[in-house]
Amino acid sequence: MTEPPKQVAVLGSTGSIGASALEVIGASEGRLRAIALSAHSQFDLLLAQAQQFRPRWVIATDDKPAAAFDWAKLPKQCELLIGAAALVEVVAEDDVDLVLAAIVGRAGLESTWAALEHKKTIALANKETLVMAGPLVTQLAQRQGALLLPVDSEHSAIFQALQAGNRSEVQRLILTASGGPFRDLSPDQLNQVTVAEALEHPIWDMGRKITIDSATMMNKALEIVEARWLFGVEADRITVAIHPQSIVHSMVEFVDGAVLAQLSPPDMRLPIQYALYYPERVAGVAKRLDWSRAWTLHFEPPDPEQFPALELGYECARAGGTTGAVLNAANEAAVGAFLEGELHFTEIVPACRNVLESHSFESNPTLAQLVALDRWARQEVSRWVCA
Ligand code: NAD
Ligand code: MG
Repeated sequence: MTEPPKQVAVLGSTGSIGASALEVIGASEGRLRAIALSAHSQFDLLLAQAQQFRPRWVIATDDKPAAAFDWAKLPKQCELLIGAAALVEVVAEDDVDLVLAAIVGRAGLESTWAALEHKKTIALANKETLVMAGPLVTQLAQRQGALLLPVDSEHSAIFQALQAGNRSEVQRLILTASGGPFRDLSPDQLNQVTVAEALEHPIWDMGRKITIDSATMMNKALEIVEARWLFGVEADRITVAIHPQSIVHSMVEFVDGAVLAQLSPPDMRLPIQYALYYPERVAGVAKRLDWSRAWTLHFEPPDPEQFPALELGYECARAGGTTGAVLNAANEAAVGAFLEGELHFTEIVPACRNVLESHSFESNPTLAQLVALDRWARQEVSRWVCA
């Protein structure tokens, strides 16, 4: 008898991760099914995805444009739900086996939280949730016995490499970073960077927010915090290595000095697929390394002056408490302001530092406190932009 499909709620299905996940699901020969799709905009794409994948629920989170959109061509078996509250309702449904959290930014928090409360397995792309509320989210997952599987390529690589030893045998995690498009620019050149240039990533084709985060290296800062909470490894045992080829996705060094890495071409479909099928490995659709030609891998330590965001990541990973929520919100707001042309590229990180330093630190915050601080930090960035 064939197994019933694993039913996946794809939250953020119109995004870069969401679309790659649908490719993985589409190629699964019925082993995976998209039971729900959600999007905040691009409803024409959401509709086309619904026509192809025939999910039970289609969630359009941005109320007003969703209500104005013509859904007449939505397949009859799909139920249309409008508004962000529907995310929380759908992830609680018994038939949902796994939730792919691929919404960008703080907006992903409530649905991931609700899914964990309902003991669902999470494939987590939305790193911002862990940056904002890492200890609370990982404790909830543990309490509920829910699996929190990383989709971020670095964390997926670490998760895979960790299977070679015990957690007590881990010496350090080595997060690789492509270095983004501006690795070799002088401070003067960095100051002139335009939005169009910052949106051109040399290797990865991703959503706008994470593409800017990669250019400032704030993405790596967020990933340090993500790794801190996901793997329970102290900040000072997390090292960043610049690796422009993005083939070694990250590494684990064990106490005996052995370093284990996961290699594959830069293609998010592999970490997505690994999380969706976990603990199984299947042939899948991801690109493979070509061993018939010569190639070289390069690693170098990052220059902290070129990338001041990294130090912010370390500070937040060390301090914990309210710092992650403040850093994450300030960064989201600053990236938004940069994309609107209201802030220089080189002002994004100082804006984050400024807000972080002016907040009143709390070591053991509640979720409600973090949500309130998230709002406060965004307002602070707006004030900073206007000043
Ligand atoms: P994206 O911008 O391409 O897609 C974001 C998705 O979230 C879209 O479907 C969008 O409609 C939805 N969304 C946006 N705002 C929302 C809101 N307020 N409420 C509900 N839904 C909303 O982003 P992406 O590049 O796919 O990234 C998604 C997440 O995955 C991010 O957290 C990012 O850091 C993480 N991630 C992405 C990559 C990558 O290669 N793209 C790699 C690692 C991690
Ligand atoms: Mg990553």
